Amino acid sequence: MKISFSPPYIDDAVIEEVVDTLNSGWITTGPKVKALENEICSFTNSHAVLCVNSWTSGAIMMLRWLGLKSGDEVIVPAYTYCATALAVLNVGAVPVMVDISDDFNISLEAIKKAITPKTKAIISVDIAGWPCDYNELVELVTQKEVLELFVPTSKVQTQLGRILLLSDAAHSLGAKYNGKNIGTEVDVTIFSLHAVKNITTAEGGAICLNLPKPFDNLELYKELRMMSLNCQTKDAFSKSKSGSWRYDVIGFGMKINLPDVNAAIGLAQIRQYHNLLQLRKSISERYQQSFSLFDWAILPPQKSSFKESSYHIYALRFKSITEDQRDEIILNMTKQDVAINVHFIPLPMLSFFKDMGYSMDNFPLSLKNYSCELSLPIYSQMKDEEVDFVIKTVIDSYEKVVLKK
Ligand SMILES: *Cc1c(COP(=O)(O)O)cnc(C)c1O
Repeated sequence: MKISFSPPYIDDAVIEEVVDTLNSGWITTGPKVKALENEICSFTNSHAVLCVNSWTSGAIMMLRWLGLKSGDEVIVPAYTYCATALAVLNVGAVPVMVDISDDFNISLEAIKKAITPKTKAIISVDIAGWPCDYNELVELVTQKEVLELFVPTSKVQTQLGRILLLSDAAHSLGAKYNGKNIGTEVDVTIFSLHAVKNITTAEGGAICLNLPKPFDNLELYKELRMMSLNCQTKDAFSKSKSGSWRYDVIGFGMKINLPDVNAAIGLAQIRQYHNLLQLRKSISERYQQSFSLFDWAILPPQKSSFKESSYHIYALRFKSITEDQRDEIILNMTKQDVAINVHFIPLPMLSFFKDMGYSMDNFPLSLKNYSCELSLPIYSQMKDEEVDFVIKTVIDSYEKVVLKK
């Protein structure tokens, strides 16, 4: 049985929505993007949501808006996708990497030790869709000693008066924290709408704005929307109306807007997300139940009294195996046509970051989790027989590689 890793969910509703856009005479940023923003806004109960063409570009724009300069520091986990740290480098600031906790998410203790007067933001990552400890993060940056350490060097930083919390929620659209969908727990939450994510626009990102006073999130939405369109005072949609040709450029913008033809895909998906998420959850539960019978399996965190995953990645770990054995298990599964990934290769193991001087010696838990982890296929349209085949392949591969059966 050939099982792919994370194919996009494309049904008739998605195709009809895209065709509708193609037939409408307007394919770039316009009414479909607005409709998608509204859906995500009400889904997360955010003050405002801006869609852009990727998580990465959205994060770069938000860090530029924060007014980061060369030498400024942004704390990020070592265990994440490269984009988390690359966004920081793209604005000329320094990603200060810290280690994670057993649940794969950034360690609060490690953050505390890494804060300096140069720290301007913390980017936490909800790995696999499991929410970070948001309450504790908010408490940390509003603590007296941490506030006293903060040195603002831009207008926005002065207005905020503390370290900005940016959530890399690339995986966690639909995850729950304190009984509600995440998105409003910290200042800025960015979802990725990339092709492999729970909801996709092929490429895309959604920025949830929930900044405290004195910020006006609706005004900020307008400002950032313009910034995402080269800081042009009129977007192409407004200019397309007759008599509306004159415009100005009032700042140093970026060109990172999401086209309507892309937004249409995500729009049709999010309208049925309740159902799609439930399907992911039942696959995850099938995995949990099966692997809970084996004492060599470490099950991923999925649900607690106040958190629930978005079931984006099923990150299975094996007790006391070596990295080589893990690789061999993957090879064995690949031979049986089951697509497997590892989330994530810690950043200091990647050449670019290693060459910058980051070293795995400083991130023992990241190394430990990486060495024994593999991610199993999980997607709404996956059939029970396929899930069962993956489970059987995992068990067979473990027994063959580790128990030499
Ligand atoms: C996918 C992903 C991103 C990047 O998303 P893009 O929309 O492709 O820019 C960032 N962070 C994490 C953790 C991701 O998995």
